Amino acid sequence: REVVQFQQVDKVFNNEIIALSDFDLSIREGELVCFLGPSGCGKSTALRMVAGLGEATAGSVNVFGNHPKEMIKETNDIAFVFQDANLLPWRTVLDNVLLPLELRGGDKKEHKKEAIRVLEMVGLKDYLKAYPRQLSGGMKMRVSIARALAAKPKLLLMDEPFAALDEITRQTLQMELLDIWQKENMTILFVTHNVYEAVFLSTRIAVMSARPGRLTSLIDIDLPFPRQ
Ligand code: ADP
Ligand code: ADP
Repeated sequence: REVVQFQQVDKVFNNEIIALSDFDLSIREGELVCFLGPSGCGKSTALRMVAGLGEATAGSVNVFGNHPKEMIKETNDIAFVFQDANLLPWRTVLDNVLLPLELRGGDKKEHKKEAIRVLEMVGLKDYLKAYPRQLSGGMKMRVSIARALAAKPKLLLMDEPFAALDEITRQTLQMELLDIWQKENMTILFVTHNVYEAVFLSTRIAVMSARPGRLTSLIDIDLPFPRQ
């Protein structure tokens, strides 16, 4: 099943900056795909369009066969993790993860159970009552990932999620993300300019080039350990 489909997408800013040109790509269910390329090649622009942030100038972007904006409005199927963890400083770890669930309404006890489950998954069950300022950068990013997972998205989008972390923390979180991808039934699409991260953390790399942003090649990768 197609999860994401770019069809001949052009994206032009201010009638002059061509961020994407004739961009064609299909992503199937369960894939772990990254956009790899130099700064300014349109990676974020492409990712943001999948999240309904920005319209194609020409061509179309579909998610599960629908317009991304509709999917964001009507379902919990898409979650977005930014480079900055974006936690609310006055809310505890648990309450940060609960926030998107609360906004959707529903059973509070169920929400709490789910929030604790995902915080356990990222190794933070002892930090439910901690505040963001008490956490390291890696832990903040784990909370941000837990918050995204709490809504049980079918598609997780990540924009350079580990770029601001030190090398060792980055490698740990890369391992953890692979683990999450293997356990949860999810498609992941992320952006990186780090070749190592792309090779280590993808089943398929979409290589892009700048000026204007084009897809130059697709590389399939066999992960060293298969999905369960
Ligand atoms: P990448 O994520 O690969 O670094 P971006 O998608 O952020 O690249 O940007 C692609 C190109 O589009 C760049 O030239 C950038 O300056 C431009 N761009 C991105 N967003 C905007 C915007 N909102 N307005 C104008 N230009 C933009
Ligand atoms: P990244 O490098 O991770 O793509 P950027 O710093 O390029 O992030 O972009 C961050 C935000 O600024 C995005 O919302 C993008 O649309 C906007 N942006 C990027 N380039 C430009 C630009 N040249 N003019 C206006 N907005 C821009």
